[in-house]
Amino acid sequence: MAVGTATACAPSQGAVAPSSAAAAPASAGVGTSTGTMGAPGIGDPDFPSDGNGGYDVRHYDLRLSYDPSSRKLAGSATIEAKAAQDLTSFDLDLHGLTVSRVAVDGAAASFSRSQDELVIEPAQRIRNGDGFAVTVDYSGVPEPMHDTANLGRYGFIATPDGAFVTCEPNGAKTWFPSNDHPADKATYDFRITVPEGLTAIANGEMAGTPQTTAGKTTFVWREKHPMASYLATMTTGKFQVRTGTSAKGLPIYAAVADSFRGSLDTLFTQTGKITDYWSTVFGPYPFSSTGGVIDDYAAGYALENQTKPIYGGFSPEPAIIAHELAHQWFGDSLSIGRWRDLWLNEGFATYAEWLWAEHTGQGTADSAFRRYYENAADPMWAYPPGAARADDLFSAAVYNRGAMTLHALRREIGDQKFFPLIRAWADAHRYGNVSTREFIALAERVSGKDLKGLFDAWLFQPKRPAPVM
Ligand SMILES: [Zn+2]
Repeated sequence: MAVGTATACAPSQGAVAPSSAAAAPASAGVGTSTGTMGAPGIGDPDFPSDGNGGYDVRHYDLRLSYDPSSRKLAGSATIEAKAAQDLTSFDLDLHGLTVSRVAVDGAAASFSRSQDELVIEPAQRIRNGDGFAVTVDYSGVPEPMHDTANLGRYGFIATPDGAFVTCEPNGAKTWFPSNDHPADKATYDFRITVPEGLTAIANGEMAGTPQTTAGKTTFVWREKHPMASYLATMTTGKFQVRTGTSAKGLPIYAAVADSFRGSLDTLFTQTGKITDYWSTVFGPYPFSSTGGVIDDYAAGYALENQTKPIYGGFSPEPAIIAHELAHQWFGDSLSIGRWRDLWLNEGFATYAEWLWAEHTGQGTADSAFRRYYENAADPMWAYPPGAARADDLFSAAVYNRGAMTLHALRREIGDQKFFPLIRAWADAHRYGNVSTREFIALAERVSGKDLKGLFDAWLFQPKRPAPVM
């Protein structure tokens, strides 16, 4: 995510306080609960009720119909999962909306609601290791999440002509039942029906041509690579669309709201150019297409929705496009397993802005580093970015001190080790989940150096580290 339209990654608009979780497991990981009830949280200590335990989702098949005039969403979600323990009941995350029917493997299942948990009791116990499919039929007017700290509204946000859908960190549950935490990634099929004349945009690539019957058009999108739930979108409205390929042959899908018509060609061209460039720095692009969406909802931030970053109400400068596209490697292909490791997304994407400036002759990463370092009064020195806080998740410290951590590492091990390390990191964990501990271990292995002191000072101490030579 990049906040602010002038400079990417201006200080946070904040975070989400963990809601009180009744019975989240004490230790991390799926399936750590005892007994046969799936835990109501996936085990993220800072977001105890996010996600769920007891199973692993493989695939979401989402059939959605949205009418902007009534703001009503009707959905049928089929979730294919594998049990990680014996299950007499399990949870999905769902915020608001009315559930009319739940079936597990085709048999009606009983269900109840408790805050943002949809508790499902299948007719028969699901055995550990078994695959199962749960179908949830639901409808209603989606309510976005409200964060009083400063993220404002996120999730499914209705607009006059459609919806602006950005879900970091836990807003997927505002429009589909999910295991809403990046620790459980899955593939997605979307079948989205909107009034004729509107465009529905989701992740991955479009399958076939949109079909129109009786004044409604259905768009089918498929994301065949694993994706975190917060990166899924169903942004809809009146859009100008341009498709084509980058110089390296990667398909590009660019879309802008009518009022941003003048920005379509720039968005298309810059997106192709920057995606191609990052593939020479970070290694092969992890997905099957790239793109970008400018909607006219004035969110004031951008989000790295997988294959299609979305810019909320502004024409992005190249630095912001560079930030969001770097996230396709760091955040989207490689996803964090718990939110406190967010610097692995935002520190990398912010450092990518510095690398883009270096590439385009607009100042070196070193000059950016020194500018921040010289400000001894910057509040980021009190905020160790290696432990992003739930109540200030998108802090400037996570972005800028995170990027500085990478620059300090680059200075310590040299470009000949640093860039191969970054490529090895993206390659080794492609489509998977990552942790800070794993990054430090790989950095030590690639460089042959003991880097514990460096990472401890930059990531975990609440004070400005000693100067970098
Ligand atoms: Zn970001």
